[in-house]
Amino acid sequence: MSALTLTNAAATKANPAPDRVGALAAGAPEGSLKVGGVTPFSATDYPGKLAAVVFVQGCPWRCGYCHNPHLQTRTSTSPVAWADVLLRLRHRVGLIDAVVFSGGEPTIDPALADAMREVRALGFGVGLHSAGIYPRRLVEVLPLVDWVGLDVKAPWLNYDAITGMVDSARHARSSAEAVLASGVMHEFRTTIHPGLHTEPDILGLARTLSTMGVRHYALQVFRATGCGDDQLNAMSTVGYPDAGLLAQVASLFETFTLRHA
Ligand code: SF4
Repeated sequence: MSALTLTNAAATKANPAPDRVGALAAGAPEGSLKVGGVTPFSATDYPGKLAAVVFVQGCPWRCGYCHNPHLQTRTSTSPVAWADVLLRLRHRVGLIDAVVFSGGEPTIDPALADAMREVRALGFGVGLHSAGIYPRRLVEVLPLVDWVGLDVKAPWLNYDAITGMVDSARHARSSAEAVLASGVMHEFRTTIHPGLHTEPDILGLARTLSTMGVRHYALQVFRATGCGDDQLNAMSTVGYPDAGLLAQVASLFETFTLRHA
């Protein structure tokens, strides 16, 4: 069990189907990606590559530590037109290596695969950040992806308390298995908070992932930046997690990274 029990009214909800969520975007041009924002240059979102990051709108989960809560809701019109994003990307050919689709949850958007094809046609590599919320769409786009950063929130039994969504572990686990079966280069990552993840939780999850075949893993220690949850923000992360635990986790993977989320 996590050290902090979250009371979240959303925990009674179930994942809406991705196409249905997409259909709620009534004001978006037919078939175009809904973009909440773009970072033109990033050296930290795709390992070893200089990339632009496209933040796709929409996420049905409600993680208390979310740094992008403004991207959770799909608005009626896209804040940034995909056609404008593509135009800007054309001007960056030769300047950046890749485009990373992040969010929100990019696999919520039915236009994701087409957007990836357009980006590939410009000669860019394609990265994907996902929490694995929609495994069927993830499977559809994986052949178009060069590298995926997959968020794993917690041990499977603790998932719903983090995401606020019933049965969320089943979706995440299917997605994790799909990424590993695809052979696409990956990093699995977990954002950890002392109120949500005990050290046995962290070690147990790392062992589970290692046994599944995950080779590259990162722990991201919670930072308050962008988080609207006062209870989480108030807890200190000094000395968390313990150095001995980190050494045990690191020994389970080909590469291991500790970063501050
Ligand atoms: S899955 Fe990601 S985008 Fe969605 S609420 Fe959780 S942290 Fe935020």
